[in-house]
Amino acid sequence: MTQTFDALVVGAGFAGMHTLFRLRQMGMTALVIEKGTDVGGTWYWNRYPGARCDVPSLDYSVPWDPELDQQWYWTEKYSTQPEILTYASHLADRHDFRRDIKFETTVTSAVWDDARQVWTVGTDKGDSFEAKFFISAAGALSEPNLPDIPGIGDFKGELYHTGRWPRDKVELKGKRIAVLGTGSTGVQASTAIAREADHLYVLQRTAQFSLPCLTPPLTEEDHAELRVRYPEHREWQRGSYAATSSNIDTPFGMHAFDDPKEVRFANYEKAWANGTAALVGVYGDVSTNAEVAQEVSDFVRDKIRAKVKDPETAESLCPPPGSYVGTRRIIIDTGYFEIFNQDNVTLVDLRKDPIERITADGVQTKNNTYPLDMLVVATGYDAVTGPLISMNITGKNGVRLADTWADGPHTYLGIMVAGFPNLFTITGPASPGVLANVIFSIDQHVDWCCRAIEHMRAIGATTIDTTPEAEAEWNAHAMDTVKDQLRINDENNWYMGTNVPGKPRSVLVYQGGLGFYRDRCNEIAEDNYRGFVFGYEREKASA
Ligand code: NAP
Repeated sequence: MTQTFDALVVGAGFAGMHTLFRLRQMGMTALVIEKGTDVGGTWYWNRYPGARCDVPSLDYSVPWDPELDQQWYWTEKYSTQPEILTYASHLADRHDFRRDIKFETTVTSAVWDDARQVWTVGTDKGDSFEAKFFISAAGALSEPNLPDIPGIGDFKGELYHTGRWPRDKVELKGKRIAVLGTGSTGVQASTAIAREADHLYVLQRTAQFSLPCLTPPLTEEDHAELRVRYPEHREWQRGSYAATSSNIDTPFGMHAFDDPKEVRFANYEKAWANGTAALVGVYGDVSTNAEVAQEVSDFVRDKIRAKVKDPETAESLCPPPGSYVGTRRIIIDTGYFEIFNQDNVTLVDLRKDPIERITADGVQTKNNTYPLDMLVVATGYDAVTGPLISMNITGKNGVRLADTWADGPHTYLGIMVAGFPNLFTITGPASPGVLANVIFSIDQHVDWCCRAIEHMRAIGATTIDTTPEAEAEWNAHAMDTVKDQLRINDENNWYMGTNVPGKPRSVLVYQGGLGFYRDRCNEIAEDNYRGFVFGYEREKASA
C-alpha cells in the first residue's frame, strides 16, 4: 500500500533533521528515509579511528536550536566523531525526530508523475511512498568511491571502507594493517591506527599537504564568552565565506609579494602556529597566484622535512612539484607526519612501487608483498552527484537524472534541476556544500527551500521547476567563481569530480563563498524567483 506525505526526505544527518524540523514547523507531514540504523549521516557512517571534524566545534553546531547553544558543552576545539554523533543523537531526542524516520531503508527509485504532480518513491524494503515534494538530504560525501584494484575481492582479511566503518568495535591491536589513500580520511585514520597496530603500511599514491590541527580542550570560559553573543555569531557565520572562525578571515594582505620576504615568512609561521587551515588564506592570492602558492607550498614541504627523520621517507611525503597547498580540500592532522618516525609504520610510495594486485593475504606491489590482516580503504567518495544518481531519480517525460547529467551535472543554484519539479537537492552540485562549514550550507538551503514552499502556498502554486537557460546561466557563473583558482587544474580532485575515473569534470562545489551565494539566492527569490517556473493544479491551469 502506498503511504502519502507532503514531503519525503532522504537522509537523517544534519540536513535531514533540519529539513524535518522546518517542515514540521510549517505544518507539513514528512517522512525521512535513512539507510543507517540511527541519525548522524556522515558522523554515523564515518566512525573510523581518528575521525574528527576540521571545523571548530563551537562553529560546527546547528543554528536552529539556540537553546541548545546555551547548554551544550564541547570538550575540544575540533570535535571527534563520537562527540558529534552524540550531539546529533541528542538533537533527535530533543525534537523527537525518530518517530518520523524510517531507518535501515534505502531509496531505490523516485519517479515524478506529471499528471498527478507527485513523486513516487520506492525502497529496498518494498515500500511505496508518495509526496508532493522530494528532498534529498543524502549528503555530498556519502557514496563511497571504491578502488577498482585487481583481486580486491580475493582478500581474506578484514576489509573496510572508512565511510562504511562497522558499528562494532574493530580490534587493531596485534594486526598488520594497510591504509589505502592519504586524503583527510586516510591521514586521520593512519594517525590513529599507528598508535595500536602491530604494523601500519600507509599506501600513498599522491602525497598531500597537511597542516597541524591544534585541538586544545575547550573551557567554561570559551563557552561562556560565545554564549552571550551566539545569535550574532550565527548571523556572522551565515554571511561569511565559509561559516568557520578557524581561518584568518582577513588575510595579512591581498597580494603576498607586496610584502618583503621576511614579512611573508613571518606571516606564514604565524598562520602555521595558528594550527588550522589559516595558512591557505594567509594572503588573498595564495589560491590564485602560482608563484605565491609555490612559496607557501615549499614552506609546508620544509615543515614536512623537519618532522620526518628519514630523508627518503620525508621526500616521498612531500607533495610533488606542480601541486599547491589548498587546491584540494585542506587536510589538518594531529601528528600525521610524526608517525613515520615510528618503527611500526612504513610508507609505501605507490608512485615508485605501484600496486599490482590484492591477493588473499595482502597487497602485491611491483617490487614487494605486504601480508595483511586488515585493509582500510580510504579512497574517498563519488562526491555530490553520486548520492543523487544512486537513487534512480526520474523526472518529467521519463528523463533519468543519470542520463541528463551524463556529461556533468547542471542545476540552478545547486538546489533544483530542470525537468525535476519539486525535487530539492540540499548541498547539490554547484552550491557551497562542503566548501563551507556544511551545517551552514545546509541551513541556507533548508531555509531557502522552505521559503520557496511558503511562496508556493502564497501564490497557490503546486509545482516549482527551473529551466535549462537558468541552469546554463548558473553553471557559467559557478565556473566563473573557480576559473582563476589554481584548483581548476588539479587532477584527482573531488571538488571537480576528477577523483572518480570516468566522471565528467565539473564544478561540484560553488567557490564564491557562502555569504555571497546566500545574497545571490535571496536576490533571485526577491526578484519573483527569477529562473524558476511555478505550476498550478491541472483544473486551475485549464480553467
Ligand atoms: P579524498 O580526499 O578523495 O582522498 C582519497 C585518497 O585515496 C587520495 O589519497 C587518493 O589518491 C586515494 N586513492 C583513490 N583511489 C585510489 C586508488 N585506486 N589507488 C590508490 N589510491 C587511491 O577522500 P577522503 O580522504 O575520504 O576525503 C574526502 C573529503 O571528506 C575531504 O576532502 C573532506 O571534505 C571530507 N573529510 C573531512 C574530514 C574532516 O572534517 N576532518 C575528515 C575526512 C574527510 P590520489 O590523490 O592519488 O587520487
